[in-house]
Amino acid sequence: MSIVYLNNAFMPLEDAKIPVLDRGFIFGDGVYEYVPCYNGKPFRLAEHLARLQRSCDAIKLANPYGEEKWADLVAKIIEQNGSGNLGVYFQITRGVAKRDHAFPNDAIPTVFIMANPLPPASQETVDKGIACISMADTRWLRCDIKTTSLLGNVLLRQAAMEAGGIEVVLFRDGFLTEGAASNILVVRNGTLLAPPKDNLILPGITYDFIIELCDAHNIPIEIRKIPEAEVKNADELLLTSSGKEITAITQLDGKPVGTGKPGPVFRTLYKIYQDYKTK
Ligand code: PMP
Repeated sequence: MSIVYLNNAFMPLEDAKIPVLDRGFIFGDGVYEYVPCYNGKPFRLAEHLARLQRSCDAIKLANPYGEEKWADLVAKIIEQNGSGNLGVYFQITRGVAKRDHAFPNDAIPTVFIMANPLPPASQETVDKGIACISMADTRWLRCDIKTTSLLGNVLLRQAAMEAGGIEVVLFRDGFLTEGAASNILVVRNGTLLAPPKDNLILPGITYDFIIELCDAHNIPIEIRKIPEAEVKNADELLLTSSGKEITAITQLDGKPVGTGKPGPVFRTLYKIYQDYKTK
């Protein structure tokens, strides 16, 4: 049975209820994080908590807890859900108030935490990679905030699924941004290209981790705006996220990416990633 945390109490998932006037429900007025945990240990928790703080600051929401309290709650939710490999999701909303777009004066933020099993990628995904669909990035201009207002992302991801893809590869004004729930990296001539962490993408914790791994293993990196043509002619395309770690995109819009098989940079990074996370 899944045990969750809601506003100072742990309880079975079925018992967790929020009032309909919660601004998370009414406006999507909230921020969230998702932390992968391996063998009961959160991966890069400090980085996730730092990003949570930046998201709170960006939407002018006072973070109800300090880092220590968050770390303690994450440890408790992991323990209560059997440790192992888990994805810990937590969100803060601006709380319950009469419906009005302007911020309420006295609402108490709602805090919700849950942990779900985090299965490894299937062998088929590792061996064959995944198919994606390219689309115009129709989201707002603050994609750097990890907000629960995700309708733009939801519609894009759904469109990809309906077109036979697993994820979208998004372009804005002719340049690569990211996926609906992931960052996208490009490999050309042995160099890893990564879009800059500006307002148009979520600054991924996995993105940072992969850049660090490239640095440590002498894979050249260029962080710059990446024109659509370079993506369409990539040797390899990589998807990164806390849930999917690193995945090879081997088909884009029905055409093979590079050889159409996961490439050498993917295989190197995938292996190092697996070794590192189980240390
Ligand atoms: N971009 C978007 C839009 C996302 O939702 C995610 C997943 N949270 C990412 C990028 C990847 O971020 P991370 O590596 O921190 O999971």
